[in-house]
Amino acid sequence: MTDLDIAKAVTLQPITKIAEKFGIDSDIIEMYGKYKAKLPLHLINKKTASQSNLILVSAISPTPTGEGKTTISIGLSEGLNLLNKKTTVVLREPSLGPVFGIKGGATGGGYSQVLPMEDINLHFTGDFSAIEKAHNLLAAIIDNNIQSKTNSLKLDPRTISWKRVVDLNDRALRRVIVGLGGTTSGIPRESGFDITAASEIMAILCLAENISDLKTRLGNIFIGYTFNKSPIYAKDLKAEGAMATLLKDAIKPNLVQTIEGNPAIIHGGPFANIAQGTNSVIATLMGMSHSEYTVTEAGFGFDLGAEKFFDIKCQSAGLKPKAVVLTTTIRALKYHGGADLKSLTEENIEALKNGLPNLEKHLENIAKFKVPAVIAINKFTSDTDAEIELIKSFATLKNVKVALADVWAKGGKGAIELAQNVIDLVESKSSDFNPLYHWEYPVKDKIETIAKEIYGAEHVDYTSKAKAHLNKISDLGLEHLPVCIAKTQKSLSDNPKLLGRPKDFIITVREIEIASGAGFLIPITGDIMRMPGLPSHPASEHIDINDEGEITGLF
Ligand code: ADP
Ligand code: MG
Repeated sequence: MTDLDIAKAVTLQPITKIAEKFGIDSDIIEMYGKYKAKLPLHLINKKTASQSNLILVSAISPTPTGEGKTTISIGLSEGLNLLNKKTTVVLREPSLGPVFGIKGGATGGGYSQVLPMEDINLHFTGDFSAIEKAHNLLAAIIDNNIQSKTNSLKLDPRTISWKRVVDLNDRALRRVIVGLGGTTSGIPRESGFDITAASEIMAILCLAENISDLKTRLGNIFIGYTFNKSPIYAKDLKAEGAMATLLKDAIKPNLVQTIEGNPAIIHGGPFANIAQGTNSVIATLMGMSHSEYTVTEAGFGFDLGAEKFFDIKCQSAGLKPKAVVLTTTIRALKYHGGADLKSLTEENIEALKNGLPNLEKHLENIAKFKVPAVIAINKFTSDTDAEIELIKSFATLKNVKVALADVWAKGGKGAIELAQNVIDLVESKSSDFNPLYHWEYPVKDKIETIAKEIYGAEHVDYTSKAKAHLNKISDLGLEHLPVCIAKTQKSLSDNPKLLGRPKDFIITVREIEIASGAGFLIPITGDIMRMPGLPSHPASEHIDINDEGEITGLF
């Protein structure tokens, strides 16, 4: 059975029933059809939220298909609910790029899914479209200002870093010339498109705590310089009010349900390689306001999403996570131990052993934040008993809790051991969450702390362009911002080919982008794609709809 077959076989409960289970009056929710609703922001209660136990689901360095963080997050929340802990899973919204590309949707898998999966994976409640519009409105205002004779800020078109966005993998749009067509059609300049998940507006929406904070952040977006070299921000174009207005509904978190009829909140979807890689602060606080346990996920491996979750999101919103679940798969460890991607379903104890140092490094990294961890072995049908035993004895050796999680095949029942481990960690009160660095550190110290402590680098190199950007950041007075390092997810280093636990490597910072609206700096290492392309056989070739409106081929 495919994920879609499993999802279709579930009888969905009306979203009003899910709202009641979540603990709110069903009259308060804003219905988007029968099975989706928006939650108004006044339902956030910071005092109650501070009592909730926040659990972060992260992972070892993943293979290209993902190791199952979303699936484990959903399964764990079902398991906690089965153990009578009132739990809500809070996740990101899928982007259409991966849905039609290689990876597919982001609603979990097997018997651990959020529903209705077709809706969540396709447009959902329109949040991405609103973000795209708000982003492109600012682009239109910028080009209009360059054209204007009476309202001109004298922006130097060559310095403008603000591009346009669309939520598709469309590589042909990476670099474009806008403004062609003569004097009435703008001033020609080089620009481009990013995917919507990479938009700074996405990052802003996911860190904003309310509408006024949203507006302040939108106004702080850095655009470029005038010919006199004065910096220009979105507020100089009076753009933030109209942009925030376009986001009036997108700022509200979305309520849906899991396969087992528990509440799930899905909101925002920044990528984890170039942005903070986790759902909105508002959604997390919403979940925490109404649940004893709140389970959330941060993108890619612990080195990317979780570091940003702790150092950017938790520091920004004052969150104190109680435990980390480190999703581990036998297939990924074998891959890190030298096995070929095509042979990962065959037993290979030697490769598995050789891959364990990757797991070991991520465990050491979690400990640096003083949050206790449990390893969740995400069970695949091809895993053998000998392979599972090897990971369990490694965990025992390292004195870390471990649980086999069979949530893909069994839903919440497959997560009882994991859920009990999480409860034990929370009840032991052993979390003493501490970020890795303080935002006041000099920019280079922030980058080096992460590169050395988390990635395991020997040294950080800066290109001359990156050095010039450090000066620019200092001139703009933005040195106090945290850093959101753009790096490949495939390796702990910035070289995707270095698997396992690379050592003695150098991280090269090529440039440093400014996201002063979101409130972070983006040091770029390696080649990072802000507009992915489609593979030669995209998933879209298999997606179809019939006369009854039934969809096939989504995964
Ligand atoms: P992540 O959130 O880490 O990127 P996902 O939970 O989205 O990973 O899972 C990636 C893909 O792998 C999904 O298509 C999901 O259905 C599949 N998957 C996850 N866990 C399992 C499992 N235990 N067995 C088989 N497929 C799985
Ligand atoms: Mg995921």
